[in-house]
Amino acid sequence: MDLYAGFDLGGTQLKYGLLDAEGRLVAKDKAPTPPTIGGLMELIGRLWRGLKATVPGSIRAAGFGFPGIYNLRDRKILQSPNYAELDEFALYPGIGRVIDVPFLVDNDANMAAYGEWAFGAGRGVSSLVLLTVGTGIGGGLILDGKLWQGSCGYAGEIGHIVVNADGERCKCGIQGCLEAEAAAPAIIRKYGALSGRTAPVTAEEIYRRAEAGDPAAIAAYASAGRFLGIGLGMLINLLNPGMILLGGGVMTSGELLLRPAVEEARRRSYKASFACCPIERASLGNDAGTIGAAAWAKNNL
Ligand SMILES: [Zn+2]
Repeated sequence: MDLYAGFDLGGTQLKYGLLDAEGRLVAKDKAPTPPTIGGLMELIGRLWRGLKATVPGSIRAAGFGFPGIYNLRDRKILQSPNYAELDEFALYPGIGRVIDVPFLVDNDANMAAYGEWAFGAGRGVSSLVLLTVGTGIGGGLILDGKLWQGSCGYAGEIGHIVVNADGERCKCGIQGCLEAEAAAPAIIRKYGALSGRTAPVTAEEIYRRAEAGDPAAIAAYASAGRFLGIGLGMLINLLNPGMILLGGGVMTSGELLLRPAVEEARRRSYKASFACCPIERASLGNDAGTIGAAAWAKNNL
């Protein structure tokens, strides 16, 4: 049986697993993200040896999804908002020292989009957009059956398209980014402003309060959903995708965010284009990046 390894690095965890040719994760696990890049390379080497010992001789290739701006030509992460240790690190020589099969690296959200397209809710769709809404907003594009990386590798930064010209300043320095208006911190900020409460609260707790009828909580989600919908409308008019998939922690809020987002997208896009673009939940959850990285290596090496 041929297997493919996938690694999905986050700020707190490195998720990894083995994918078979049918897209099933036959093994998966996670480890805490080491604080240094040297520690990360050591960890990858150790996990790799463990995987090989489990299934001798059958792992054909490996894929890595890393958070940050990945440069295709230099094959480096230029800048990682959540794990600065990656910045400018020579990834291919570094990983090549600890892994002894062909491997590929790309941006983590791109890998998640590829996973949903290859083996998740986007299977069989030729062009789709994936957005993951959590503490930030990540995105990936599949166009005409191919991952759209852009000319330098930076495509799919959907969290940083501007949806509110006079809006909040984003972590990236731009004002009014989708991420600054619709991710979990925006929901928390809006809830604080609307409720007048100053005690720290999570987006999940605000969700529970909304379910219980708290009008400020409902309005905070509705505001985030509206800005999300403005972004979706842009994507629909620009790309005419066959599907938009929404994943990430905030999407577990279900209809609270989704309903206003879909309603706003409908109001802000061409009727014909909206009509051929179902907006649905992604299906692979936390495994999307691992599955996508492994599938990317499988299909491109
Ligand atoms: Zn931004």
